[in-house]
Amino acid sequence: MAVIYYGTKRKVKIDKSLGIQECPNCGRQIEMSLAHEKGYVHIYWIPIFPLGGWKFKACSNCGVSQKLTSAEFKALKKA
Ligand SMILES: [Zn+2]
Repeated sequence: MAVIYYGTKRKVKIDKSLGIQECPNCGRQIEMSLAHEKGYVHIYWIPIFPLGGWKFKACSNCGVSQKLTSAEFKALKKA
């Protein structure tokens, strides 16, 4: 019986540092980063189709602190 290997892969990419801010999730004054995640579905580790990436502020303490819309992400990236 053939076994088909498939699954999803996700990669987080840090876009830039936002400096020290208060994290809305854990409440600490901490280094925050602007980041986005990209993912894809693979079969036998060959990417088949991309999954919708999402954008967020990353906290160096708790991880994902706040999801962002595309407009918020663009504004922060330009700032
Ligand atoms: Zn946090």
